[in-house]
Amino acid sequence: MTDRIPEEIRDASAEELLHWAFTEFGDGIAIASSFGAEDMVLLDIASKVAERPRVFTLDTGRLPEETYALVDRARERYGIGIEVYFPDTSAVEEMERSFGVNLFYRSIEDRKRCCDVRKMEPLRRAMAGLDGWVCGLRREQAVTRAEVAKIEIDGGNGGILKFNPLADWTLDELWGYIRENDVPYNALHDKGYPSIGCAPCTRAVAEGEDIRAGRWWWEAPEHKECGLHAKRAS
Ligand code: SF4
Repeated sequence: MTDRIPEEIRDASAEELLHWAFTEFGDGIAIASSFGAEDMVLLDIASKVAERPRVFTLDTGRLPEETYALVDRARERYGIGIEVYFPDTSAVEEMERSFGVNLFYRSIEDRKRCCDVRKMEPLRRAMAGLDGWVCGLRREQAVTRAEVAKIEIDGGNGGILKFNPLADWTLDELWGYIRENDVPYNALHDKGYPSIGCAPCTRAVAEGEDIRAGRWWWEAPEHKECGLHAKRAS
């Protein structure tokens, strides 16, 4: 797969990288969107440089109402179908019967159990057959993301390509783009939520707090990934 990547594209701008990736791979790649600010910027750029960019999202069943509202706004604004993946019903039922409905607060193990059922299994279905996926990771978001490259081999997901076009964007650049281009965004961002995931696992952050401090706030920073972006032998 890497032999299809020209050297100059590895440090290209987000626009250039998305244009190249969708031209080269077409429906073989898709944007993985949780409808955060970064994902909305990716969608906006992709809609300008690609004919019909594929977008998928994982509806964990525990998302905030504001996120569901944005999914429909994005469908209307960009005129695209969003590929929604929902967790396996019987797996959720089994997990909640055995471990409770709010198991994630009990331990890292139980939190990861929930992320596995509600995110990782649907993600595997969403990624089946893809050559690559596009993510909104930025290096300055978290200690776990400081080394993110614009193009990676995703060893944790079958060795497909992972594109991070916003890897070198700052928070100011991100919001500058949103304002300049009137990109729709999650209403929770205006209520102190810089990073948004499932409702029970996300809280607002105080002025000066780390932007990921509101995600799984009861855990240490180095544990704060749900598995979607875990780095394995890449
Ligand atoms: Fe479950 Fe929380 Fe992970 Fe969502 S973020 S899948 S509610 S543990």
